[in-house]
Amino acid sequence: MPPHAADMEAINVRLPLTDREGLFRLAIRDGRFASIEPQPEWIVSERHVPIGSLSLERLGAAAAIDLQGRVMLPGFVDAHMHLDKAYSLPHVGNRSGTLLEAIENYRSAAPSFSKETIRGRIVKAALNAASFGTTALRSHLDVPLMHSRELAMRTIEAALEAREMVSEYVGIQFFPMYYHDPGRERELNEFAAETLRMGIDGVGGAPHLTPDPAGGIDWAFRTALAFDRPIDLHTDESDDPEVKTIDILCDYVLRHGYAGRATAGHLCSLSAMEQGEADRLMGKMASAGIGAVTLPAVNLYLQGRGDRGNVRRGVTRVRELRKAGVRIAAASDNIQDPFHPFGRGDLLQIGLMTAYAAHLAGEEDLYEVLRMLTELPASILGLQDYGVSAGKPAGFVVLDAASAEQALQELPSSRWVYNKSRWIHASETRKEWADPHMA
Ligand SMILES: [Zn+2]
Repeated sequence: MPPHAADMEAINVRLPLTDREGLFRLAIRDGRFASIEPQPEWIVSERHVPIGSLSLERLGAAAAIDLQGRVMLPGFVDAHMHLDKAYSLPHVGNRSGTLLEAIENYRSAAPSFSKETIRGRIVKAALNAASFGTTALRSHLDVPLMHSRELAMRTIEAALEAREMVSEYVGIQFFPMYYHDPGRERELNEFAAETLRMGIDGVGGAPHLTPDPAGGIDWAFRTALAFDRPIDLHTDESDDPEVKTIDILCDYVLRHGYAGRATAGHLCSLSAMEQGEADRLMGKMASAGIGAVTLPAVNLYLQGRGDRGNVRRGVTRVRELRKAGVRIAAASDNIQDPFHPFGRGDLLQIGLMTAYAAHLAGEEDLYEVLRMLTELPASILGLQDYGVSAGKPAGFVVLDAASAEQALQELPSSRWVYNKSRWIHASETRKEWADPHMA
């Protein structure tokens, strides 16, 4: 427990993932939820300081806080980011707006990025995510071994140093996108082994973009098994329904008992397939126990570029995957880089995009969207001790919203983030009218 840990209690808290209507009072001791109790009615208390308009310092010193009916969610979990590339857009463009040009341009520019530059981008992107309420995330890393080993290692070192720097704010898992070229496997084995020993968390990659996708998946499993690590692959990020490495990935997960330890991101081609084949694959994913991650912002931006007229959206079958029994999360993917010029690391924004792109806007759906930003990615990332319940470490975000609906309707910019035994960030929007009565 860090020395700044302070015990605290809060009243008039809404926990929409626990109970949609009710109010709660809760206590935090030694950085953990000590108790969470339903409140029969609204509490009026002089002793409890309203959370709004308190400086972070005063908030940190307050032992009793009134949330005034605001929503508290467990910290957002961003299951798929690219922190090392974030904010590189001014240096790397993408004129066609396609995935292939983004990859090519980034690859050409990579040698010009120093370790300090990459580390700075990772720190900035991670802290921005934390400021919006993300307490844990998984980032893929670009490791262009085809350029040189030194260049690939530069990103690994930058990432591990950056993780250390932000560890009091947000937890990070790193999955390098190892590029499997059958002709250069020995070099890759040696590099992957070293990075996994250095503290890299798992095996990433994008087999559908390599010369031998089946061989690439085989390599990923051999490596993951040898080091007992999870796997997270960019899977079928293509509009072409014939691209279906997910089929092979499922076979390997089933064969090696990797249920709960394998994740497939994107799954764009799944949305372009005819129904029968898509149903077969979604059923297979469910029986294999593969976690899925949809990246709506980047898919809407990059996919469908070749279509005229009825343009495909690229976003995978979110509702159907859910119905088939596949755990599916929504995540940020790229932020302000050649793969995606927008985004800011705010998972609530991604939640709204998911609601649009996947037609998830019914009353039940909104709660599911919030779960896709919290509990589901936490489970996919294998996070232990996650959630707002007694005994768990307190990591949460308070939104300036009175309900789940309002959180997605207003995307409130006023948020208060608590992690690792203290308030780590507060942002509050001041609204003033020239004529005060207009408020
Ligand atoms: Zn990605």
